Amino acid sequence: MITVFLGPPGSGKGTQAKRLSSIRNWPQLSTGDMLRQAISDGSELGKRANEFISVGALVPDDVVIGLIRERIKADDCRQGFILDGFPRTLKQAEELDQMLSRQGRRISAAALFEIEDAELVRRLSGRRTCSGCGAMFHVESLRPRVDGVCDQCGGKLIQRADDNETVIRKRLEVYSNQTLPLVQFYRAQNKLFPVDARRSPEIVLGDLTQQLKAFA
Ligand code: ADP
Ligand code: ZN
Repeated sequence: MITVFLGPPGSGKGTQAKRLSSIRNWPQLSTGDMLRQAISDGSELGKRANEFISVGALVPDDVVIGLIRERIKADDCRQGFILDGFPRTLKQAEELDQMLSRQGRRISAAALFEIEDAELVRRLSGRRTCSGCGAMFHVESLRPRVDGVCDQCGGKLIQRADDNETVIRKRLEVYSNQTLPLVQFYRAQNKLFPVDARRSPEIVLGDLTQQLKAFA
């Protein structure tokens, strides 16, 4: 089963994709994670991507489409996968449908994570991410046992460079302008279902797994 997670930055797509991925046999395909990996590797791709990411803009379509095109060929994607943060533009969504249909596959469902902007800014500006394993914490609502240290792996917690208020506002604006049209795109294909993303991660996961059954 191929599922798309759609929703603004900070709505919990990554958290849910990780959880769902560990209970089903579906890898989490996050273009954001792939790009950050390229940046920390210091590759040419990473350098190019960072110019966009650091200001809250989208990385060019051809770059992320190339990443996904290669990734979905891997063996572990045969049972299905979760797309987290891709597609983010109509062009990406259309190319994705085409590359899947060439393989005789298609997207089953698109979950739309719904939450208001004020809560997104609160979540993102207080977010801390583990530099070791990617686990996420929050300075107020999900504090680690020891300040600055990951509960899971002992890694150092950092604030993502794009999790500052100016860049957050820009990312939200880019989401409204470039990504929101995908809601209509997937609705027209009868694949869209909304998820109330204001609730706790446990409740959201339960709701997601329940609603996905209707699309399997
Ligand atoms: P968030 O959902 O919290 O904004 P991500 O980790 O998904 O975070 O993405 C971080 C940044 O990486 C985005 O702001 C954008 O610059 C870039 N990026 C990730 N996925 C895509 C994509 N599909 N298309 C274009 N740019 C992307
Ligand atoms: Zn960690």
